[in-house]
Amino acid sequence: MTARTGDRALEVRRAEIRRIVRARLKSMHQNRSDRNAWLKGGNARCEVLPEPARPPRRLVLLGAPGVGKGTQAALISARLGTCHLSTGDIFRAAKCSDECERTPAVLRALEFMRRGELVPDEIVLRLVSERSVCLRCRGGFLLDGFPRTVRQAEALEEVLTEQKVALDAVVNFDLPLEKIVARLSGRRTCSICKAVFHVDALPPRIAGICDHCGSGLYQREDDRPESIRVRMDEYLKSTVPLVEFYRRRELLVSVVAEGTPEQIFERTVAVLNARDKADAASC
Ligand code: AMP
Repeated sequence: MTARTGDRALEVRRAEIRRIVRARLKSMHQNRSDRNAWLKGGNARCEVLPEPARPPRRLVLLGAPGVGKGTQAALISARLGTCHLSTGDIFRAAKCSDECERTPAVLRALEFMRRGELVPDEIVLRLVSERSVCLRCRGGFLLDGFPRTVRQAEALEEVLTEQKVALDAVVNFDLPLEKIVARLSGRRTCSICKAVFHVDALPPRIAGICDHCGSGLYQREDDRPESIRVRMDEYLKSTVPLVEFYRRRELLVSVVAEGTPEQIFERTVAVLNARDKADAASC
């Protein structure tokens, strides 16, 4: 690739990231759920609800950490109105909350998270069951980062039955592990608007500063090399078996996670639409 075509490719990616950030900010501030009920739990309720979706999509996103699930979740949520329910976001929100609001269970969870380890099932399951009302969200939902173990997947089935809703599909994003490790170790995130950059593949114009809102960029604690190794081992041991779990239930669809976020999004929508058509034909 020449320097000029490389610069051009970078500009195209930057423009695309700007669109994603705008979509994310729009979904946060305008017509989508503020996810208050999910992020805070307890008696918290969403002040801004998503528009009712017809039909609401109810999806689980699977894939190794760093495969781009969060970016795809933001796109799907902004375009289809589906509420983005990420267990990692619950922990990150707790980290930013007042110290007195953090329960002992959450403080323990943050320790596991810091080391890149999975938080024990009983803590995660308690947090999710306290938020089970979110599974009946009128916009539908996208579970991102949950379930991560077969035990969590079995518990999710029980909660969904209690809430009288069913999953439409489980989307598995596929990418070779060595590419994921390279993506994660260079990833930098904006502390305010959550835009994601990469030190080599998508550097900000000024090192360490977000192109979109001018805030500082940081490396997530769990994106450091020692944590990445632990997260990948955890993923292979605990999460890969979920692919078989959902394949047996005929819920699994696979999407190749190579290319730009927009291309991956288009592929995801095409796979979901094809599944809808096949389901309608078999009725
Ligand atoms: P994520 O943003 O999904 O990559 O999650 C960040 C971190 O939060 C993970 O590395 C785990 O430490 C913790 N975590 C999030 N979701 C779960 C889960 N379902 N089970 C166990 N740990 C989780």
